[in-house]
Order: sequence, then C-alpha cells, then structure tokens
Amino acid sequence: MKEKWIEKNITDFVVEPNLLDYSHEYERFDWKDVASAFDGLPSGGLNIAHEAIDRHANGTLAEKVALLWLCEDGHQKKYTFSQMKKESAKFANILSSLGLVKGERVFTLSTRLPELYIAAIGILKNLNVLCPLFSQFGPQPILQRMQRGDAKVLLTTKKLFEKKITPILNELPELLYVLLIDVEEDESTQVLSLPRLMQSASDTFEIPHTQPEDMSILHFTSGTTGMPKGVVHVHKAVYTHWMSGKYALDLHPNDVYWCTADPGWVTGTSYGIITPWIHGVTNIVDEAEFDAARWYKILQDEKVSIWYTAPTAIRRLMRINSQPTKEYDLSHLRLIQSVGEPLNPEAVIWGKEKLKLPIHDNWWQTETGGIMISNLISQTIRPGSMGRPLPGIKAGILRVNDDGSVTEITEANKEGDLALKVGWPSMFRAYLHAQEKYDKSFIGEWYISGDLAYKDEDGYFWFVGRADDIIKTSGHMVGPFEVESTLMEHPAVAEAGVIGKPDEMIGQLVKAFISLKTGFEPSEELKRELIGFGRKKLGTAVAPKEIEFQENLPKTRSGKIMRRLLKAREMGLPEGDTSTLED
Ligand code: ATP
Ligand code: MG
Repeated sequence: MKEKWIEKNITDFVVEPNLLDYSHEYERFDWKDVASAFDGLPSGGLNIAHEAIDRHANGTLAEKVALLWLCEDGHQKKYTFSQMKKESAKFANILSSLGLVKGERVFTLSTRLPELYIAAIGILKNLNVLCPLFSQFGPQPILQRMQRGDAKVLLTTKKLFEKKITPILNELPELLYVLLIDVEEDESTQVLSLPRLMQSASDTFEIPHTQPEDMSILHFTSGTTGMPKGVVHVHKAVYTHWMSGKYALDLHPNDVYWCTADPGWVTGTSYGIITPWIHGVTNIVDEAEFDAARWYKILQDEKVSIWYTAPTAIRRLMRINSQPTKEYDLSHLRLIQSVGEPLNPEAVIWGKEKLKLPIHDNWWQTETGGIMISNLISQTIRPGSMGRPLPGIKAGILRVNDDGSVTEITEANKEGDLALKVGWPSMFRAYLHAQEKYDKSFIGEWYISGDLAYKDEDGYFWFVGRADDIIKTSGHMVGPFEVESTLMEHPAVAEAGVIGKPDEMIGQLVKAFISLKTGFEPSEELKRELIGFGRKKLGTAVAPKEIEFQENLPKTRSGKIMRRLLKAREMGLPEGDTSTLED
C-alpha cells in the first residue's frame, strides 16, 4: 500500500530550504517554554480570550484588523483587535449582569455573523463555557445538546429562534435567557435584544482570575460513527493552538488567514477563532456557504496566504473542470491545509497541478482539541499520508493485547491503533456525563483514538480507517480509505464510500458507493470498468466486488462520508442517530 504512493512522492513538493524549516526547534521543544508566548492575565492565570484579543489590543497590534467579515451580499465589516476587545467586553458584561457565573454554559446557534465571534470571546472572558451548535441543526438535535449541556443562555437570530427554538422552548426549563442578534427590542423578559443590551453595556471588562484547567469550550463530535459525544476542553488548550498555529499553519504576522470550517465544529473554533488571533493574524470569516467561484475570488481579493479547509470542499472544487490559477490571481496563497477526513492522494496532486500548491493533510479530533499530526510546509509531503506528529506530541501505533494492555508497534508499516501519549495541553478533560466512556478511551499512558493507522520508516503516519469501518474480507483486513483513494484515481469518480457488506462465504464483501464527476453517466459498463480498474490496482482480494452509483453520498454536516449509514441502508437496518446528517 505504501510503496504505491511513495512513487508519487514528487520531490518538488519540498519547499526550498528556507527559514520555514523549524526542524531544529523540534528537538528542543518543551511545552514549558510555550508559556513565554503568553501574557498571563493581570488578575492571574491563563484565559484564551485575553491571549487571543486583549493582549494584542493592549499592544502594538491594537489597530490591526482581527476579523474581516465578508457578508453574503458582498459588503464587508472590519474589526480591529481594539474593537474586538471592546465588543467582547460588552458581551461579557451582559452575561455577568444576567447573573451568569463561572462554568455556566452559553450556547450559540447562528450563521457566521460577527456577533458570533464577539460572543465567543465574551463568553470566555466571563468564564462561561462556549457551546457551539451548528446553525443547520433541526430542533431535536438542538434540544438534545442543550439539555445534555445544561444550557443557561442561548445566542441566536430571530429566524433561527422562531423556526428551531420555539418548538422546544418548553422542554428547556433551565434556559434563562435567549439573546437575539438581530432584533432591536426585547420580545419578552427572557427573549432579549442583543443590540439593545450591547448599547448600554460597558466596553471594559476585567477578566477574572482563570485557572488553566477551567472549562472553556464544550463541543459535540461530528456523529460520524454514532451518537455525538460532548467533549470538554479547558483554557490550557491554547498552548496547543499556539504550537500548531506556528508549526502546522506556519502563521506569521503578515499572513491573511482563512479557515472555511463553521464554528459549529471544533475546527471552526480552534482554528476559525482562537489560533489566528493567538498569533495576531487577520482572520477572514465568510458568511456564505460553499461556492467555487466565490471561494476563488475570496482567495484572490483578500490576498489569502494561509488557507485551512477540508477534503469535502476540495473534492467539490475538483469536480469542476476549471483552471483556477488562470482565472484568478492566487499568488498570495502559500499554504493549504486540510482536515476532517482522509485526504486522497489524488486531491494532493490536484492541488499541485491546479492551485500550484500541494494540499497538506493533517489529523486530529474533537477530543484532541488541536492538530496532532501534520504535513509541514517545510517538509516533503507524502500524498496520502497525514504527516508527522507535531512537536510536543507523541503519537504511536499500538497493538491491544489479549489482557487489555497495549504494546507500541515499533516496526514500520504495521497497522494498529493510532494513539497519543497523554498530557498534551488540549487533551479533552471529559466526555460530558459519560465518565466510563472517557475512562475507556485511555489505556495506561495512551489515549486510543479509535482510528487505525500505520507509520512508515520515516515517521509519517498513514490513515487506514476508523476502527469501526475496517472490513474483514476473506481473512484480509481492508481499510476503506485505500480502496476509496484508488477508485478516485479513475477519471469518472468524484467520491467513493466503501463498506464491508456481510457475506456468508467471505465474511464481508467490499462494496463501493460512487458518485460520478460531471459528464459521466452511471451504466453497467462503467460499473464493470471500475471493478476491473479496482482489481488491477488493488488485487482481487481487496478490490470492490460490488459497485453502486449514488448522486450524492450521505455526509455529516461537517462534510464527512457516513459509511455507517451506507452500511445500515445496505443491510436494511435502523439508521441510528442522524442528527448530523446533511440534508
Ligand atoms: P464521532 O466521533 O461522533 O463519530 P467524528 O469522529 O467524525 O464523529 P470529529 O472529532 O469531528 O468527529 O472527527 C475526528 C475524526 O475524523 C478522526 O478520528 C478521523 O477518523 C477523521 N479524520 C480527521 N482528520 C483526518 C485525516 N487527516 N485523515 C483521516 N481521517 C481524519
Ligand atoms: Mg470521533
């Protein structure tokens, strides 16, 4: 499996030797030294909001643009660090005046509006816990999460409130207030106008003493493998954000940075809010949903230099037959990073050909709070590999023994459980109301990620699949990613989702669901061709035996292919939790 991609290890992916090469720093990296990157609160302790906004507002970056907001209709709004400090102070004062105390949860349900970003910082300032919801959730998933998360305040818009909250309001007796972003007058004693409150709130707020271990954010996972889990993070996570902002995203003061993830998901908060600001970098937020032409225009017009996106978006761009660098000036772009799902080698190579930059894959989870493994700008990319662990992160491939203990597999190219040595600062501190599940995620000093991977001789990690998705066929273990990536090499294939379908003879049969690129039509002939293509590339044991065309594969709202759903539907079983399923 590995050799195949190494062939494609195009050496010109190596960036010219230059100052970006931090490898010398890796060896002497120590989390203790990261403390010196932070200011610390005047009242003592460590608070994300202070480090991201106030410290810059108090210094030389005060008038620099922190947030460049692109409205769907084409106009823009800019907020400097100084303005962000004041606006977020007002929000913190509002929460405090409403009687909210440390640790109480504030949920957000909003499209990507500036108020959402201001509120996120204000919530952290008042030592409340930020609980982001994805704005496209329906009432039931919202209710489930707000009940589980003990919501005290909800920030939302009038439209979302009427459509999604009104039907469930009676079931949320603990909810004290709803703050509406876009109404001028209060609607009741509990449903309040945010603009009115902001008008009279003071724009100074002294952040109380914050312990690094104080809870900061509660995130719900994507629900790709089952019921979404509530994942608890703390202020100290900012250490990982600083480290990964430096080493994986290569953030420098003059960068213009755009993370396309919605803050309803962990990438959208860790890297769409906190990390760029920790580094004092201008952060672009686009209100609109995906649109290829709009995206290329943003990259061009805003002179984006660092772009953090996801495989699902890249695959959508790949579907369109375009010549982006001929149609747009993308000359400011110097790094593209991607996370969320396996990044097929085809996509890495497409980036190199069409955007004149390879796409750098990185790996992490809601539970890890920040990037753990990444292809660095200064190192050779191995298309199909997730890269190498970042400094301060010890990743290993483990074998779980019969007695439940684990052994690290030191041999190269041997598959096992992808695990992390505990102790990195942004490690999740709990699964909400699920202590047993949390405890089970750890064996000895390792956190077991639930993903399978292997490591090559040079320390690059290669994703095999989620432990739940691994296919056992005729005595072989097959990772769906390998099969999907191979199918995507075929010119007709836009996306592939591969599952193991129970089969009496061979245990599980490899079945591929395929969506086709524009210009290709499903046919029996194409099916045969793809089966033949798979056999030639993968061998008969691993190649799909069945192919089914689907116009769109089922995905989570964060864009991940839901293989468990493909499987349940194939087998006529209940679909399980579908709260995060895309419409
Ligand atoms: P749930 O835990 O609810 O099933 P989820 O695991 O998709 O959902 P997230 O925390 O958003 O929730 O996603 C993390 C997972 O996404 C990883 O465990 C991994 O399976 C997948 N993933 C993320 N980045 C990559 C990557 N670069 N390559 C392969 N897989 C990735
Ligand atoms: Mg998960």
